Amino acid sequence: MRILIIEDEKKTADFLKKGLEENGFTVDIADNGEDGLHLATSEEDIDLIILDVMLPKRDGWSIIGALRGGGWQIPVLFLTARDSVQDRVRGLELGADDYLVKPFAFSELLARVRTLLRRKPALQSDTLRIADLEVDLLRHCAIRGGVRLDLTQKEFSLLALFAQRAGEVLSRTLISEQIWGMDFDSDTNVIDVAIRRLRAKVDAPFKKELIHTVRGVGYVLETR
Ligand code: CA
Repeated sequence: MRILIIEDEKKTADFLKKGLEENGFTVDIADNGEDGLHLATSEEDIDLIILDVMLPKRDGWSIIGALRGGGWQIPVLFLTARDSVQDRVRGLELGADDYLVKPFAFSELLARVRTLLRRKPALQSDTLRIADLEVDLLRHCAIRGGVRLDLTQKEFSLLALFAQRAGEVLSRTLISEQIWGMDFDSDTNVIDVAIRRLRAKVDAPFKKELIHTVRGVGYVLETR
C-alpha cells in the first residue's frame, strides 16, 4: 500500500513517514501543494493521501477540489491545525474522506488510515451512468447515446462532478471551488458560461436534457 503525504512541515512529514513505513506502507512526501497534486494525479498506484490544509503554492482545499473535480477517487485524510467545525465541514464537503486535528496521536492516524483503505471501493465506480450518459472517470471520457463527447479537460471535470453527485443541486460556490479552486466571491459568470458550453455538448444534440438549472440555487444533473 502506497501513501502520499502532502505536508510542508518537515518534522510532521518525517514522523508520519517513519511511523507508516514501520507499519508496512510505502510513503512518498510532497512538501508543497503543487508537487503534491502533480504526484497524486500522475502516479497510478497511490492508495491514500494524507493532506495538510495549509500548504505553500496550493492549499489543501484546492487539491481536494481538483482531485474530485477531475474524477480521482483516491481516499483523502486531511490534517487541519484549527479545530473549527467550518474547516472540517468544508473539507468533507469538498470530498475528503476523513480528517484529523493537529496535534494527533500516531495510533489514531494509523487506525483511520486502515479504515479508509478497507473502505476503498474496488474500482466499482469508475464509470458513472445516468440515463444514456456514461462518464468514465479512469479514462477521462464521456459517452452519450453511444457517441463520445468531445470535451475539454475543464468540461470533463465539470461533467464528472455533476455525475458523481447526480440528483444533488450544486451551488455555483461549490462548483467554482471544486473546478476552479476559487473562493466564495468569485465571478459566477464564469460558471454559467462553462455550463452553457457543457450543455451545448452534453444536452443539445440529444432528446432529453440532463443538466437542469435550479433558479437561485445552482445546477443539477438528473433524469426528469
Ligand atoms: Ca502546513
